[in-house]
Amino acid sequence: MLTPNLSYANLKESYLFYHIAQKTKAYLEANPDKHLYRMGIGDVSLPLAPAVIAALHEGVDDQSEKDRFHGYMPECGAPFLRETIAQYYGKRGVSLASDEVFVSSGASDELGDLLDLFDRSNRALIMEPAYPAYVDANIMAGRDIVHLPSGPDNHFLPLPQEGLDADLIYLCSPNNPTGAAYNREQLSQWVAWANARGAVILFDAAYEAFIEEDLPHSVFEIPGARTCAIEICSLSKTAGFTGTRLGYTVIPKDLERGGLNLNAMWVRNRTTKTNGISYILQRGGAAVFTEEGQKQIHDNIRIYKENARVLMAALDEAGIRYWGGKNAPYIWMQCPDGMGSWEFFDKLLNEIQVVGTPGEGFGACGEGFFRFSTFGDPADTREAAKRLLNLLK
Ligand code: PLP
Repeated sequence: MLTPNLSYANLKESYLFYHIAQKTKAYLEANPDKHLYRMGIGDVSLPLAPAVIAALHEGVDDQSEKDRFHGYMPECGAPFLRETIAQYYGKRGVSLASDEVFVSSGASDELGDLLDLFDRSNRALIMEPAYPAYVDANIMAGRDIVHLPSGPDNHFLPLPQEGLDADLIYLCSPNNPTGAAYNREQLSQWVAWANARGAVILFDAAYEAFIEEDLPHSVFEIPGARTCAIEICSLSKTAGFTGTRLGYTVIPKDLERGGLNLNAMWVRNRTTKTNGISYILQRGGAAVFTEEGQKQIHDNIRIYKENARVLMAALDEAGIRYWGGKNAPYIWMQCPDGMGSWEFFDKLLNEIQVVGTPGEGFGACGEGFFRFSTFGDPADTREAAKRLLNLLK
């Protein structure tokens, strides 16, 4: 008889956003006249940039003409987009060959699929609070997880420490949910640690476009990273592609383990397990990296940053301790008066109709903290900030 992947039985119920949705639904049923100020889910609210829309339309038109039509696309990505992304890294001083860049359907897909490259016996190190998919993808793969908690003491930026033992290291900087971002010296410590033990860093750069300070946008800005890191990135938050789907992954050709080259392994994986990404989407994605596209996406990012500024000003005035907001679209606050995450969630929902995300949903050490997303509507964010300040001061 068939045996399913029994590791699925080890997954905890994924209740975070489901539970939030249930609670908000129940509230609205009981209070149908109330408007909710939604600062919870990390989904964008602004539409795609005009340059992207124009390129998507051109892509559709190409598909309608016999001499411009594209059938199957190369599995690892269209050469024009791989080259464009390599040049984007080049502007930051990171030299990549275009065949070190793989076009993907988004970071979530890659974070799961890339695990195919690694044996189940490898231990995964996940710094918490963390994006929940890191934990779940490794549980599904039957891998042991080392949970490394972080907190105010290390500013939510844990560093390698004595006795730490792992093979796959997840780093997300700027971080979801805490908004904390590593500096060069801190990232160099992880790169040195990974190289010394033959580990591999999976660096999630989904929020790199939100960095304002002089901090690394890519792990490959750190010397030594080419022999120990894979970078996963996405246009979801950078350019509003959450519902359009496009991302990219960088695997340097210098990355080898156990006598195998991980770039070549990924080529083999992609050519077997995908038939490429839609031509139309790749045309849209390439437009993100043009001068016009970059200007337009940064106009949108500025609107989200203004949301962050408004929320941070309210928390400052209320004397609440928080992290993030500056280099990331998330603000991570300490719940007031020692309240628990869900207790604070209920208070905000019932008393001021503001919806956020309880920190406990990102790992046990997130208890007592709360995440606000800054991707919401600006008018709603301003009203939420006003209500928050009245409640907390
Ligand atoms: N990585 C992090 C840290 C995220 O926060 C998210 C989405 O919220 C993703 C990856 C997923 O991105 P994508 O939409 O490209 O799948």
